[in-house]
Amino acid sequence: MACIFCSIAAGEAESYQVYRGHGLMVILDKYPVSRGHLLVIPVEHYEAVQDTPPRLLAKAWVAASALAHVYRSRLGARGVKVLTNSGRIAGQVIFHFHIHVIPYWGDGQLGRGVLTREEALSVLEMLEPHKGVVEEYLKGAGLVG
Ligand SMILES: [Zn+2]
Repeated sequence: MACIFCSIAAGEAESYQVYRGHGLMVILDKYPVSRGHLLVIPVEHYEAVQDTPPRLLAKAWVAASALAHVYRSRLGARGVKVLTNSGRIAGQVIFHFHIHVIPYWGDGQLGRGVLTREEALSVLEMLEPHKGVVEEYLKGAGLVG
């Protein structure tokens, strides 16, 4: 059974990647709820939150929190939602554990359209100066050397 996130991790499917390291990748959601909607995904395949080993979970949640910090404290988002869905009934669509990081800008621009290349590149450019925050947070939490 093909898994789109495993294909992306293997470089066999395309994505817009914000960060990769320490067993994690951060990519832009293909169907963003808002501008800058990110997914934090372990490179290794685990179906959902309850299947993922604790240390990898810790890394993923700390990375997601770092990105929430970037949006709230550096880029002016008025709110941010950090969440994971486990099970179809709870809204899980791709059965490879991932955490959504969804910034709210207060501009009323919420939707579920397909990410355009233009928007993707502008989001990558917005995040580029702040990528180091993920690394800082992982180190601060003692999760990487
Ligand atoms: Zn997978």
